Amino acid sequence: MKPSIKGAWPAAAGSRGRGVIVAIDVARVRADTPGCENVLHLNNAGASLSPRAVVERVKAHLDLEAAMGGYEAADSAAEESERVYRSIAGMLGCAAEEIALVESATRAWDAAFYALAERFEPGDKILTAANEYVSNYLAFLQVARKRGVDIVVVPSEEGGEISLTALEAAIDQHGQRVKLIALTHVPSNGGLVQPAAAVGRIARGNRVPFLLDACQSAGQMPLDVEELGCDMLSATGRKYLRGPRGTGFLYVRRSLVEQLEPTPLDMRSATWTARDQYKVRKDARRFETWESSLACRLGLGVAVEYARAVGLEDIAERVTMLAERLRGELAGIAGVTVRDLPGDGSRKRCGIVTFTHERHAAHAIFERMRERRINVRVTPVGSTRIDMEERGLTEMVRASVHYYNTEGELGRFARAIRDL
Ligand SMILES: *Cc1c(COP(=O)(O)O)cnc(C)c1O
Repeated sequence: MKPSIKGAWPAAAGSRGRGVIVAIDVARVRADTPGCENVLHLNNAGASLSPRAVVERVKAHLDLEAAMGGYEAADSAAEESERVYRSIAGMLGCAAEEIALVESATRAWDAAFYALAERFEPGDKILTAANEYVSNYLAFLQVARKRGVDIVVVPSEEGGEISLTALEAAIDQHGQRVKLIALTHVPSNGGLVQPAAAVGRIARGNRVPFLLDACQSAGQMPLDVEELGCDMLSATGRKYLRGPRGTGFLYVRRSLVEQLEPTPLDMRSATWTARDQYKVRKDARRFETWESSLACRLGLGVAVEYARAVGLEDIAERVTMLAERLRGELAGIAGVTVRDLPGDGSRKRCGIVTFTHERHAAHAIFERMRERRINVRVTPVGSTRIDMEERGLTEMVRASVHYYNTEGELGRFARAIRDL
């Protein structure tokens, strides 16, 4: 009843010469991915195709619940369920006690943000960047309205990344009023990778809590919370990690956990110790809720182990290579403008490729691709409003690649765009 991916993964072939990546066995990962047979999937920033082992793990636990009862099935999977925390902690370079499992990246981010916001006072400042994700920004707006705090959008460099000089200047200017730096590592709308580790050094140097939205970078590149210098990090399971929908996790640095009381509480996060008393858990699981889909969590655990077995360095390298290749192909098509930052490709961009077409609206392209079983997505102004408005964009086509995509697929996609 407990399929494991042990033995399901061949040791990385290892050698890698002149930009030719042989470390990922693409045929093998495609064979592990049932969806590859049906669709040309370039919506990995939305939800990736899961490996078979992930789907099987979820199904097996649902079957077990049906066969023996949900609580009883949970009891029997208790040890594996603990391992999920250790897998995620291993991927992030932190302790299992610093991880909370929740149902989405947004809920993870919210849990940290709203707990911090309890302490905000009128005039306090939240520093963020132009590419901040919609749901995070909605939370800023709500807290700004309720608590009288100010949102400071730190200006970007020419290439789109947050200006570190401007960030330091903002901290100097506002001093003790700066209560949070919140950054989206990789925006949902393009190839930009924010210099999160440099932001983390500034945050630490100034003792400002740093909340990193790693929703698009988790599973796409190596993440180490020490190197990143973040105090809190949120991510989802279904995007580059290839886990099931309805999964997400939050990292909170040990030294901060007990300073943050979650709202709301439940019997997972706290204990009712006397009629008029409660005690909040000491670890990051204070941010969890009692009820959850254990099947999906176990699936997430398999997805994380799968990603680590493939190797996050190798994944990042291949994804970057494929994305640059796709940008090159698209740029050669009349009417197409690639929109990823930095626009001159002077710095490393990730797997999210965005573009517009002179004659075809993004949603029209989406429809045409769908007819051909090519999955892309429209990224609208409302998902990253500040960045999109600054660049005068209302919508773009987003084609996000993963390591299981092939050069052949990208060629097919580029031809489909050329044929519009
Ligand atoms: C998708 C996304 C989120 C939200 O993730 P959910 O799991 O849907 O809550 C947050 N931040 C970024 C940058 C995203 O792309």
